[in-house]
Formats: sequence, structure tokens, C-alpha cells
Amino acid sequence: MVTWFSIICFAVIIFVVCSLLYTHYGFFKRFFHDGLHWHEPTTIWFDGFQVYSICKHCGKEIMRDSQSNWFLYKRSEANGQR
Ligand SMILES: [Zn+2]
Repeated sequence: MVTWFSIICFAVIIFVVCSLLYTHYGFFKRFFHDGLHWHEPTTIWFDGFQVYSICKHCGKEIMRDSQSNWFLYKRSEANGQR
């Protein structure tokens, strides 16, 4: 019997597998990077306060938040505001 619960579980499993393929091999970049803005770090550096990196897909500066999500970050603009 196919229930909504099983359909949602299946969708979640597919999503997790695809996200693992993205983080490990760069598959589905158009969906995860361009669509969901999941940036992938290359060289990571830590300035004593925040963790920074460069996205390997778009080459832009990214910063890690407390939930270890990467988001776009332009250091020159941020410094100008502070
Ligand atoms: Zn990126």
C-alpha cells in the first residue's frame, strides 16, 4: 500500500542521496548550487572569529554560519559597513 507517508519518506531519501552525491562528486550542481545556493568550500581559513572559504563552483568568497551552512560573503562590502 502506498501512503503519503511512504511517498514523503522516499522523497527524503532521494533528496539525501542526491545531496550526498552533490557534496562528494559535484552532481546536480545546477539544482543544489544554483537553485539552493549550497556553496562548496575549497581552502578553509579561520580568522579567530569566522570561518571563510572560496566556493569551488563559482569562485566567490563564502562564510560559514553557526549551523555550518555556507553562504556568499563579500568581505570588501562587509568591511565597508562596519
Ligand atoms: Zn558557489
